[in-house]
Amino acid sequence: MEIIVGGWSETSLVDVLEHVSFTVWLTYCNLRCPWCSNSRLARGLEGKRVDVAEIAALAGEAAPFVDYFHVTGGEPTLQYRALDALYAEVERRAGLPLSLDTNATTPKILARLMERHGIEHVAIDVKAPLDDPRLYARATGTHVALAARLLPLVREGLRVAAKAPFLELRTTLVPGILDARAAARVAETIAALRLRPAGRAVYVVQQFIPYEGVPEPYRGAKPTPPEALREAAEAAARVLDGFEVWTRTLAEGAVRIK
Ligand code: SF4
Repeated sequence: MEIIVGGWSETSLVDVLEHVSFTVWLTYCNLRCPWCSNSRLARGLEGKRVDVAEIAALAGEAAPFVDYFHVTGGEPTLQYRALDALYAEVERRAGLPLSLDTNATTPKILARLMERHGIEHVAIDVKAPLDDPRLYARATGTHVALAARLLPLVREGLRVAAKAPFLELRTTLVPGILDARAAARVAETIAALRLRPAGRAVYVVQQFIPYEGVPEPYRGAKPTPPEALREAAEAAARVLDGFEVWTRTLAEGAVRIK
């Protein structure tokens, strides 16, 4: 079976906290975050068809040097059948723990993938407070009415993902969209879900970096000031019981706060 990918990295240090992963980027996304660093991929403007067996064979070769087989995008669950086949092939050929990065808007697919493949690590970007359709719409480039329909799905996706042995939630402080106070509200709304993570749970407050793939006007924005990250992370640490709290910046990488 073929899958549409932007590419892959045989050794990535930034996709699974504190681990090395073989990472594959899948084309297409159902959101249009105006600050997306993979915006061309997300819009389907980049991508090539590759047989899942080819990727699995490469993952098998890299297996001695990596901890996880990680799939990100775009939104990988949009290619559910191909992703299901890819995971099955990687299990057969590489035997690596599986990892998925999703925006959590497709909780039923996430649940099915977790059931079928025992995904060990799930990463979710929580882009705005989970009770604020207006801000979620701004952060994701959607309409408020659509955001209001998506947020219950995201909350459900977080509940599903909490069953993974390793749950990694992330929030990026994008200048002009999410400041430290709004990010603190993100953490409060995660805490309000009263997730009971099955294993290790981490929350990472991330710096926005205007990478090459970020469209204008955010391409010209400045990186988030580190002090804003620190403030948001400290607020998160006060409300998120059972979670480690980290910051991630270009200069310092990942730093544990709690
Ligand atoms: S959900 Fe992720 S891949 Fe999709 S548009 Fe937003 S940042 Fe880009």
